[in-house]
Amino acid sequence: MEVPVVEEGKELVKNEEFNVASITEVPASSSSSSSPVIGRFRLNNGVAELRFGEDSESNLLPHFDLRCTQLFKLSQVQSMCIQEASESNKEKTYSRGITIQFRNEEESRAFHCAFDQWKKEVVFQASHLPNGTVLASQSKFDSKIEASSAKMYFHYYGQLLHQQNMLQDYVRTGTYYAAVIENRADFFGRVVVDVGAGSGILSLFAAQAGAKHVYAVEASEMAEYARKLIAGNPILSQRITVIKGKVEEVELPEKADILISEPMGTLLVNERMLESYVIARDRFLVPNGKMFPAVGRIHMAPFSDEYLYIEIANKALFWQQQNYYGVNLTSLHGSAFQGYFSQPVVDAFDPRLLVAPAISHVINFTSIKEEELYDIDIPLKFVSSVGTRIHGLACWFDVLFNGSTVQRWLSTAPGSPTTHWYQLRCVLSQPIYVMPGQEITGRLHLAAHTAQSYTIHLTLSAKTWGPGAEQGGILHTSTGKLDLKEPYYRMSQPQVYPVAQDQQSQQLLQTQDIPILSQDEDGSDLMQQPFQESGAEFNSL
Ligand code: SAH
Repeated sequence: MEVPVVEEGKELVKNEEFNVASITEVPASSSSSSSPVIGRFRLNNGVAELRFGEDSESNLLPHFDLRCTQLFKLSQVQSMCIQEASESNKEKTYSRGITIQFRNEEESRAFHCAFDQWKKEVVFQASHLPNGTVLASQSKFDSKIEASSAKMYFHYYGQLLHQQNMLQDYVRTGTYYAAVIENRADFFGRVVVDVGAGSGILSLFAAQAGAKHVYAVEASEMAEYARKLIAGNPILSQRITVIKGKVEEVELPEKADILISEPMGTLLVNERMLESYVIARDRFLVPNGKMFPAVGRIHMAPFSDEYLYIEIANKALFWQQQNYYGVNLTSLHGSAFQGYFSQPVVDAFDPRLLVAPAISHVINFTSIKEEELYDIDIPLKFVSSVGTRIHGLACWFDVLFNGSTVQRWLSTAPGSPTTHWYQLRCVLSQPIYVMPGQEITGRLHLAAHTAQSYTIHLTLSAKTWGPGAEQGGILHTSTGKLDLKEPYYRMSQPQVYPVAQDQQSQQLLQTQDIPILSQDEDGSDLMQQPFQESGAEFNSL
């Protein structure tokens, strides 16, 4: 399909041709032409190219993918055109270069102008294509994520130590293992895609469960280690293919019956990998195929934690100094104070700090649209069990493996065995007061940003009574804006909870609105692994 280049609504030329005196391949080879030749800019399947010669000669003379080609001026009438191996396609593309001899200076200038224009226009066009159209120079991932964020992200996951950190979260890995092995029927003889395979561990589990074939898609350099790890397990390796690339970009030879993935970040959605999971569903899964996990839930409850509040507020005290080497620092105190409260706190807390039964927001991975994850708006309504000062909102998540034999939840709830996700708390700079039985309303709004995370807007309100309050009380509202990308990892030592927890905290943890599906009691031994403390500082899938 030939797609016209568009600039502010007007259609530009589809092809642009230039006569050049000669071209020479560097190093010299048969792909050179010492006689005049035509250089042609054109779109080929949405990709901008520069080709030399007529179509019949196209196999002999070089052509360039403009996404990764640069043009340098060597003299007034001579230029060099170089195509580099592209970042996403290193295995396929190789570097090549030609020198172009122009007939005169004017033609050289016109050629350079056209080159810049074609490069620019195609980037513009690619990021404005309607949904579902094949992207020319940017994939769905590249068009919404900053390159610098993606680079750091995949660099992080390319390191074995971070994969080890996840593998050593035995609650996490053990639950995946149990869910796969207990639901053999969902994997046996099936085609599986492992979305973001990392070390390849979930692909190996799927193969253990009898998968016909597993495609392990991994974008980071970890793909090489996954190949090694899989090759080291020869009985399973024949049925696993590692594909290096983003799930948004790679092509697979067949559709999958089931997807397996571990795309969860703190607060479930951090890292925006759920979007990749959903894109993989739309690209690779057969209609009504299974997803492991299929459902995720964000649980939320207000909490009271005087120590935490004071700890955060005290961090800004430094800026209260009026004589720091003779300098008054106080003008920055307000900004520093807000800065500390804009960091969500990640740690394991005692569930007795919760002051109302939790509510939950359900995300169905099998049906949600990718765009729905860009903006998540959750109305909040709680009834306080106690009279207290509320310091913010505590959040955790769980995911469901909806197997046809056993349904199993992986939970990160406070009081449950700790995972490397811990729990997350949004602390408000202005606490609110409540009486027992009082209603707390508000909103948790998550807005995705291009650095693979979310801006959190939290509002909590409660009515206050007392001197000066009108009849019915006045609404006291507290708001906070936090960046999920900048958490404060507050690894207090794992707390020892009483074996039989008091009834109140048990009740508060029970989500009220949807029933939790039954767990398989017998399978619990599959999960037994020693407890490990982890030190994730990135984001922790
Ligand atoms: N499945 C492994 C790794 C989970 S971490 C396990 O359970 O242990 C998530 C992995 O997904 C990381 O290795 C990351 O590099 C990869 N990933 C994230 N987004 C991706 C994308 N869009 N395409 C391919 N891989 C991706």
